[in-house]
Amino acid sequence: MRAVMRKNLIAVAIGVLATAGSLLAFDYWLDRLIARQSQEEINTSAKRAISLAEARVRDAVGAIDELIKRGVDGCAPAQIDLMRHAVFETTPIKEVSVLAADGQVLCTNLGPPAAGRKILSSEPLGAAGGYTLDVIELGNGDRAVRLGRKAGANGNSAAAIVPAILFLPQVSTKGGPFNAYAAMTTRSGALIGDVGRPNAREAASGFLARQHSNELGFNVVIAMPPGLIAVNGDDLKWLGTFVWALMVTILFGFTLLTRRRQPHNPIAEIERALAAGEFVPFYQPVIDIQSGKLRGAEVLVRWRKPDGTLISPAAFIPLAESSGLILEMTRDLMRRVCAEAGEVIGRRPELKISFNLAARLFRDQSIVGDVRSIFSPSAMQLSQVVLELTEREPIENFTETRQVIAALQGIGVRIAIDDVGTGHSGLSYMLKLGVDVIKIDKVFIDAIGTDRNSAAIVETLVDLARNMRMDVVAEGVETFEQVKHLRDLGIRLAQGYVFAPPLPGGSFLQLVKALDPRPAVSEQKAAGPALSYLSARNRFSAA
Ligand code: C2E
Ligand code: CA
Ligand code: CA
Repeated sequence: MRAVMRKNLIAVAIGVLATAGSLLAFDYWLDRLIARQSQEEINTSAKRAISLAEARVRDAVGAIDELIKRGVDGCAPAQIDLMRHAVFETTPIKEVSVLAADGQVLCTNLGPPAAGRKILSSEPLGAAGGYTLDVIELGNGDRAVRLGRKAGANGNSAAAIVPAILFLPQVSTKGGPFNAYAAMTTRSGALIGDVGRPNAREAASGFLARQHSNELGFNVVIAMPPGLIAVNGDDLKWLGTFVWALMVTILFGFTLLTRRRQPHNPIAEIERALAAGEFVPFYQPVIDIQSGKLRGAEVLVRWRKPDGTLISPAAFIPLAESSGLILEMTRDLMRRVCAEAGEVIGRRPELKISFNLAARLFRDQSIVGDVRSIFSPSAMQLSQVVLELTEREPIENFTETRQVIAALQGIGVRIAIDDVGTGHSGLSYMLKLGVDVIKIDKVFIDAIGTDRNSAAIVETLVDLARNMRMDVVAEGVETFEQVKHLRDLGIRLAQGYVFAPPLPGGSFLQLVKALDPRPAVSEQKAAGPALSYLSARNRFSAA
């Protein structure tokens, strides 16, 4: 009981650990997934910001080049018209202006120059021919990029203004609001613009992406605080399904595991006990009631639990039969009998040992080889072995069963039919199967003295057996009254509590030796006269 409880506790502990382990692993996996997605998202954002900036600059530069090609180098109405046209045509350009050599704004596409502008930084753009890049602050405080170059011989420049905000990511890669910090700088490191709130602590513990433009020399930095990743709805749904499936799998697996390990699974218990050698043979003596001599024994299995308790076969044989474990159990029992009693029985050829064999074992020829290989190495002769056909269900395939019986008889084994007169066993079975021995059930033995019909049935059975040269064994004989009746009916062999119950191996062997003390084999060889005496006696008792 305590062992069972301990096993249950261990199973529960393993279950809890397995579940906790899986959850931790899942949590770790989820963290890694979010980290990877966050990093991927800001990497993509950074790349997009750079290519966007490159496209904006290309558009602006293209528009200015076109204006200069068309001769825009001053503020004539026709030139202002062309400038308006360019702003209208080129999306990112907010304003086109003409600047004097000293940088003063002469005019814009809107006419006069706007007031309140500040130049924050100025540097050559680099790759694109002759362009200057200024970062300016507009009147409203917004930043913008101004790209301009010399327009003509008068020293004036044409320039396009692109709002800084157009160089920065506005939305997340999944289309939601952009919730990170992003900053774009020029080649020299001047800030073009930024979005979001810079937060050094968050940036340090979060995710960071940098991207550089070879074409413009721009750099973009994007920092995302941890836990801000916008995992989209599909991902969450997928995750939910995954978590659910994982839980179900764990629960289901765990249930199966504990089921299989449950000590209450009786078939598994029988299997375990079989491996542990807990099924042991007991021997019930069979007596010649005419001469009073011991003629052998019927082997009856007992389940001896580790604590010493004995379980009777009725409690486990039906399950062993239906589960198919009966074959191994029977073979194991035969091996044990050989090991335990082989020598003592082998030296007394008049003794027969009978084994109970489920009817289903007579369906397969392989039992013939099994029996031969188990008894061959033993001192016990195959002619001393009796196999009792015990059938709890009607025999399905008569032809096969009869063939196996014949094959067993062919190797010298004798076949008995058990419990004759009850259940499916009957006269027709006896006649058709060609057995050597019939065992008359206790029910008839009990009724012999009292019930005329029973006595008549037993009489008929005995007559029939005699005609067919079969031996008869009376089972379950409990009184001397019954012994007397059986003797009167001409029955020779009987077993029952009146003589002895099924005995453990040690007790049975002691009884055998006490009833028939013989010298050991080595002494026998030396003692010639004793041998001839014994042989003569054997011949006598066999008659
Ligand atoms: P069975 O083959 O008919 O065995 C006789 C049963 O009657 C045995 O019960 C035995 O202990 C009991 N018995 C013997 N003398 C008396 C008596 O005077 N009075 C009463 N009331 N009972 C007596 P057990 O040992 O409990 O075995 C029960 C059944 O289990 C056996 O019936 C047999 O069918 C089956 N069995 C036992 N061992 C094996 C085995 O190794 N293999 C198979 N397949 N079946 C087995
Ligand atoms: Ca039997
Ligand atoms: Ca029986």
